[in-house]
Amino acid sequence: MSLLVVGSVAYDSIITPQAAADEVLGGSATFFATAASHFTPVNLVAVVGDDFHHQDIAFLKDRKVSLEGLQTAPGKTFRWKGRYLENMNDRETLYTHLNVFETFKPELPLSYRNSPFVFLANIGPELQYAVMQQVTKPLFVAMDTMNFWISGAPEPLRKILSVVDGLIINDAEVKELSGESNIFVGARKIQAMGPSTLIIKKGEHGALLVHNQSYFYCPAYPVTLLYDPTGAGDTFAGGFMGYLAKIGKVDDASLRWAVVYGSALASYCVEAFGIAAIRDLSAVDIQKRVDALTAMTRLPA
Ligand code: AMP
Repeated sequence: MSLLVVGSVAYDSIITPQAAADEVLGGSATFFATAASHFTPVNLVAVVGDDFHHQDIAFLKDRKVSLEGLQTAPGKTFRWKGRYLENMNDRETLYTHLNVFETFKPELPLSYRNSPFVFLANIGPELQYAVMQQVTKPLFVAMDTMNFWISGAPEPLRKILSVVDGLIINDAEVKELSGESNIFVGARKIQAMGPSTLIIKKGEHGALLVHNQSYFYCPAYPVTLLYDPTGAGDTFAGGFMGYLAKIGKVDDASLRWAVVYGSALASYCVEAFGIAAIRDLSAVDIQKRVDALTAMTRLPA
């Protein structure tokens, strides 16, 4: 089934303790679409500037990402720069240049409006809401957000949360959004705001799925060569939503498997700069890590 994503398409500059990369293709929607494209066709809604490179368009088309909803506006593409500290978990944002996103109004082509699966990647909550007003009865809508919006746009964030089915965020954001230091209490509070399904990412410690009253925990694949964590969250979301859209169901069993697929994709993402490690994966590569993750939690009979 088709999968719609709205989010950022960006040029990222990244500094890690070992290396640096300048102006590589990134953005929440790019990581998401690249990961999800291994499972299902993706409909992308975003904006780029007139400086966006032809080869990046060609790459997305090659990955079977529909670009009918990608607007090109006069001006510069969104740019973001971040630096990771020695532990590779903490990161500081050096700049966020919204550029063409400042005036962006998402407009869904007619062919996108009945997409059964929708992901509202990390952009302003008003823009996420504008997308929800244009879709007709999707089967499952999930969203992402970040501290920038939790503290900067709490009211619009509450509004969009009240109309989605799933929220994919990290543990620090759960605490910030709920005001609770206990993650389980915080999760219940957030469920009361709207989404019945929460996926709480805990970096190298895996991901927790809270679906109605049930819990499922998936470890992170033991990556030993951590190169660049940028986009791992969006890549996780792409694997998660891509898998759900592929099988076309959102019951408890599918959600659990989707978390495992999301974790497998994210584990590849961090092994190179930008999308380099997830662009050319094969089904066998993905299955290998899915099998490894399930083996890590299997108990002897
Ligand atoms: P993550 O590592 O999952 O937080 O995702 C990093 C990606 O998000 C980068 O490719 C950035 O271009 C993009 N990004 C960073 N800040 C924002 C923002 N405020 N709005 C939208 N996208 C952003």
